[in-house]
Amino acid sequence: MSRVTEIFGSMVFNDVVMRERLSKEVYKSLHKTIATRSELDATVADAVAVAMRDWAIEKGATHFTHWFQPMTGITAEKHDSFLSPQPDGSAIMEFSGKELIKGEPDASSFPSGGLRATFEARGYTAWDPTSYAFIKDDSLCIPTVFCSYGGEVLDKKTPLLRSMDLVSEQSVRVLRALGDTETTRVLGTVGPEQEYFLVDKQMYRAREDLMLCGRTLLGAKPPKGQELEDHYFGAIKPRVMDFMRELNEELWKLGIYAKTEHNEVAPAQHELAPIYTDINTATDHNQLTMEVMKKVADRHGLACLLHEKPFAGVNGSGKHVNWSLSTDTGRNLLDPGKWPEANKPFLLFLAAVVGAVDEHQDLIRIAAASAGNDNRLGANEAPPAIVSVYLGSELCGIFDSIESGTPYCRAKAARMTTGVGAVPEFKKDSTDRNRTSPFAFTGNKFEFRMLGSAFSIAGPNIVLNTIVADMLGSYADRLEKAPDKDAEVDAIIRDMLRAHRRILFNGNNYSEEWVREAEKRGLLNLRTSADAIPLFVSKKNIELFTKHGIFTEAEMRSRCEILLETYEKVNAIEAKTMLDMIRKYVLPAADSCMRGLADTASGLEHLGIDAKKGAQARAAKKLSALTDALYDEAQTLEKALAEVEGADGAQKKADAVRDVLVPQMAKTRAYADAIEADAAADCWPYPTYGNLLFGV
Ligand code: ADP
Ligand code: MG
Repeated sequence: MSRVTEIFGSMVFNDVVMRERLSKEVYKSLHKTIATRSELDATVADAVAVAMRDWAIEKGATHFTHWFQPMTGITAEKHDSFLSPQPDGSAIMEFSGKELIKGEPDASSFPSGGLRATFEARGYTAWDPTSYAFIKDDSLCIPTVFCSYGGEVLDKKTPLLRSMDLVSEQSVRVLRALGDTETTRVLGTVGPEQEYFLVDKQMYRAREDLMLCGRTLLGAKPPKGQELEDHYFGAIKPRVMDFMRELNEELWKLGIYAKTEHNEVAPAQHELAPIYTDINTATDHNQLTMEVMKKVADRHGLACLLHEKPFAGVNGSGKHVNWSLSTDTGRNLLDPGKWPEANKPFLLFLAAVVGAVDEHQDLIRIAAASAGNDNRLGANEAPPAIVSVYLGSELCGIFDSIESGTPYCRAKAARMTTGVGAVPEFKKDSTDRNRTSPFAFTGNKFEFRMLGSAFSIAGPNIVLNTIVADMLGSYADRLEKAPDKDAEVDAIIRDMLRAHRRILFNGNNYSEEWVREAEKRGLLNLRTSADAIPLFVSKKNIELFTKHGIFTEAEMRSRCEILLETYEKVNAIEAKTMLDMIRKYVLPAADSCMRGLADTASGLEHLGIDAKKGAQARAAKKLSALTDALYDEAQTLEKALAEVEGADGAQKKADAVRDVLVPQMAKTRAYADAIEADAAADCWPYPTYGNLLFGV
């Protein structure tokens, strides 16, 4: 065995370990639940708990924890030791089936969006056997769902699992109607690409904005940014390489298939992509990946920034969710195969996604909404806030031929010759990539590219699963009644194109023309989170999610409230941090700089040199004007903050953030950055952009 295969999954209670350590009957029962997602036979829990405990203790674990995903977007855990006291003063290590299945964390300090009053503290966590338990930091971690005493869902995993069941059910209906008798379950698959920045830890600690907000709030443009495009796919620096090596090992131990790593567009920016897996596991793994990245970085004297826009003026970080559907017989339903034009199931599933994305543009946009991502969406390196779908010319051509009822003429497969004798010829892909599309078909999956790097991918996947399932359900209704299935597939695609063609766009999404064109087409352009989030509780959306049992109306309203509140709080914290930095450090830095200039000027005067119009006097004058302006803008920023805090209710607060606070922060920052650009290096209190971006 190679070292990699030896360590891979060594900290996971996976199928191999289960088979080894559970009795035949218990293994069979648990395996069935995992494979078919059928209800767990609770009588096996005790046996599983004992096996898990023994395995975990052998691996050095002392504690166990229910590991869950509250609405904070990160994971939560509360550790209990296996220790159980004995009458004779000794102790044994215990872990029961009951403790495996159910936990009772205090739910009152997690966001509930008004679903629960704080005095109603009780919450439950319940074991999710479909995601493997694992060991992290000497604790056995048990993936769980999280709900309140009253049964309201307080986490992201529960609705995700529900939406996975839903999309499976509706997909199987469609497949059955098309004559597939074998598939019994369809599993959503996801591979999330994760972007991040690495900066030196000492510099990170020297900046209040990075420490408190995860991004810089001030910072003059460095002489060099990403204009030479020399970082993308560039050679990886040794210190970063060491980090990546350890990161991979840690992820592999947790059974995470970390595969691809490379430098990204911005200096100090990198990307990691795992091999795809089922959506539930992929979601758990992505949460773990983000956590492990931060920890490993710390051990290497680095800080890992997962914020969507750590630096103004260079690219921000996204997360691309590659999404597809796969049957339990191993077929990828979005794989076009050799002859896509004849592959009716493929064309139908493709149509369902296109139709669903158009029908629910608002939900797609909301799935990508956050305070952090607002700094990125619509800025020129990221997908715009307008949702559209890229299919490429070949698939659009097939759809066109179905719409017009004419036979599809396939373009001859092109060969690629490089003109270098030694390089063999190879077949060209039928379509190019489109890096600007927010939602692109990429060969055998869709890539949802709008998401922010810090996101949990649970929310976006809940949306995708639900809207596609809803569309598939309506197709199944038609197909089940239709005598000629192939003709009905064509009819469904024709109807889909008639209603939803406007969402298809193969061009450059970053161009100004597209914004105008999209408006003409009547596509939504929800520029900020404050515009997008409230639409979550529209009548149409409430109907959609309640109809399918994903959320109750109360749960939706609470989630909307949490999203709006978080948007407001994050921005308010940023504004307060900015004010603190300006008043405590930037204005005093400007003062000391001016003092130095004034001292020099008066010293020169003392020597009889006319310094009134000299360099020092002119520099001081400019700095003084900038300082006055910064002081005034900071006062205005404080007023803006008060206006936000005085606004009534989550929506009004969010509106004030968008209309007053965010623009005022930008205005204020501009003066601080102008002072930084002019100030002497030894006056400046913070590591500069140049230090941060090129200092590792
Ligand atoms: P690309 O070159 O188009 O970016 P990659 O092969 O690098 O594609 O894949 C990018 C991500 O998409 C990876 O995480 C990969 O595992 C994932 N992916 C590939 N196929 C599927 C699929 N069928 N379902 C979900 N994700 C997939
Ligand atoms: Mg990609």
